[in-house]
Amino acid sequence: MEIFTTVSEMKNQTALWKQSGKSIGLVPTMGYLHAGHASLIEEARRKNDVVVVSIFVNPSQFAPNEDFERYPRDMAADSALCLEQGVDAIFAPSTGEMYPEGYISYVDPVDLSTRLCGKSRPGHFRGVCTVVLKLFNIMQPDRAYFGQKDAQQLIILSRMVEDLNLDLQICPMPIIRESDGLAISSRNVYLSGEERAQAVQLYAATEAARRLYAAGERSVAPIVAAMECELAKAGLARIDYLEIVDLRTLNQVERIEGQCLAAMAVYFGKTRLIDNILLG
Ligand code: AMP
Repeated sequence: MEIFTTVSEMKNQTALWKQSGKSIGLVPTMGYLHAGHASLIEEARRKNDVVVVSIFVNPSQFAPNEDFERYPRDMAADSALCLEQGVDAIFAPSTGEMYPEGYISYVDPVDLSTRLCGKSRPGHFRGVCTVVLKLFNIMQPDRAYFGQKDAQQLIILSRMVEDLNLDLQICPMPIIRESDGLAISSRNVYLSGEERAQAVQLYAATEAARRLYAAGERSVAPIVAAMECELAKAGLARIDYLEIVDLRTLNQVERIEGQCLAAMAVYFGKTRLIDNILLG
């Protein structure tokens, strides 16, 4: 396994793989890898000749008041996990390598970027689209793997690929959870013991939605009420948003017709956790 830290080295390797006709699977991450990332890597390994994992804590997707500086990092553990998973190369550039002095070009997914997480994280999806497009250009993947846990990110990136006529397939992957149901996240390490115990209520809220939908409920109001009821059991939780939206437009709906997403963001202290479930 190779570790590349410069764009030029990575591009040279990409060119060699392309010349020999190898298909490339890319798993973009911010590192501090866990079982959720590993599931993406495994699927990429199954479907592609070559697997590249990018590890880059992207400053342009963090607002100044967010956790960019303290975001957990562990390159040694990440390399070990990638090696074990049969990854061919890690791309781990510095901030200066990705955003050199004088950098000015950004991709802005207007409209969709102001919904759900975008409301409380202005500029976040502009940063995500920009860095992911750069990664696509550097690695030229045939397939790129993203988790359903970041559902809005997945929707926006799929639209970017469609809108900008990019030549690759976005592969959505299911949410991997802890044994009690909490969605695995690099940010879970921020939680105190008590917060961690209560955080399982996000999963309980998605399960409440799933049960009601399965029982035939199509009105949004009672589903949202049931989800709020589950979140209310977590005394330390503060809801950022809890919405049921149309999967393509991210507009809030009153009835569930076609594919919808029940999505939430919840603060425990300064830690913001997200979870969601597809309905329909
Ligand atoms: P991150 O390093 O948090 O930016 O995540 C990198 C990729 O892994 C994104 O596509 C995430 O959606 C995905 N991911 C993170 N956590 C999980 C999880 N628990 N299950 C599935 N995918 C995940």
